[in-house]
Amino acid sequence: MIERREVALAAPAVGKAEADALRDVVDSGWITMGEAVRRFEHAFAQRHDMEHAVSVSSGTAGLHLSLAAFGLGSGDEVLIPSLTFVACANACWYTGAKPVSVDIESVDRPHMSLSDAQDRLTSRTKAVMVVHYGGWLCPMEAWRAFAREHELILLEDACHAPALNGVAAQGDAAVFSFYGNKNMTTAEGGIVLTHNPDLAGRIKRLRNHGMSASTSERQVGQNFTYDVTDLGFNYRMDELRAAIGLVQLDKLLDWNRYRVALLQRYRAAFAASGSGVTLPFDGLEATAGHLCPALLPNGVNRKNLMQALREAGVQTSVHYPPIHTFSYYESRLGSQKLPKTETFAARELSLPLHPGLELEDVDYVVEQLTSVLNSHGGGYNR
Ligand SMILES: *Cc1c(COP(=O)(O)O)cnc(C)c1O
Repeated sequence: MIERREVALAAPAVGKAEADALRDVVDSGWITMGEAVRRFEHAFAQRHDMEHAVSVSSGTAGLHLSLAAFGLGSGDEVLIPSLTFVACANACWYTGAKPVSVDIESVDRPHMSLSDAQDRLTSRTKAVMVVHYGGWLCPMEAWRAFAREHELILLEDACHAPALNGVAAQGDAAVFSFYGNKNMTTAEGGIVLTHNPDLAGRIKRLRNHGMSASTSERQVGQNFTYDVTDLGFNYRMDELRAAIGLVQLDKLLDWNRYRVALLQRYRAAFAASGSGVTLPFDGLEATAGHLCPALLPNGVNRKNLMQALREAGVQTSVHYPPIHTFSYYESRLGSQKLPKTETFAARELSLPLHPGLELEDVDYVVEQLTSVLNSHGGGYNR
């Protein structure tokens, strides 16, 4: 009899160092955008070898501000994968631009398909938003060439891939999220990286109501008043979150390495399990290890499987229900078929992956999953 374990899907790694950083901010008496935000932006840019970083209140805010700063609006189209978090599509609508859903390459390479993207180009296509799904880097040389050929803006949704080699380098901007289940967290928060100083300046203004100078800049500088040059938003980050971010950033590389080691353990264990379960992106080493997406054999009743795993203490999820199948999106865009995305999404099961796991937790998850799949008659086959 295997000893029962409780294995969470994801868990924030926060503790005393984060609590100390919060106390320091409280003691300093300045809690909105200030020195910690500036230090965090500088450190995050440096970690990625980038010149400009603008921190914001969420990854979604970062996507919205990037698209707005690029000047996207009504009549424009943005190519996005359907296999991503709904925020990608929502951010397009916020600007008035239309998100155009693109299929994946294959169930073994669930990145947005370059050839399907090509097929969906129109005279209105202005931008393409690639998503480093699960933490695996998209083929960025190819996407850069595609964007150059068709004169498109190239935006990276890098919410799954902080500190990954090659991330943010090719895009016109790259957006990261620090939500509680991401590789590093500030509870809520996000950041935009870019090589382009003008774009960074526009995003900075737009995050702060379109104002020409922020409160802290007026405090220290010669600006005693301000102009409003654009219709902006309040998408600011604050000192408390930035202080947590600085602590988390220091640990990010070690965490990413450990996540990759856990993924390798999953891959080896499934290969030896006889379960028929596979992991996509086999042979693609470049990953930040954000998700462990497993591909179930054909015909498995995933709902029953998830319930059985829950009873065994194992939390699982699905990444993602495809955007083009949501009722809101169908009501605006009509019904659409993306066969590979639909197949992948129907068979995908996200398994626990976070730095709080032990290697033995991975073995336990694979054992439980295999034993449920092998218990025929349990209703796990449709
Ligand atoms: C988390 C996430 C977002 C949104 O980030 P928030 O900080 O939650 O707004 C966008 N895209 C992807 C792929 C994500 O995983």
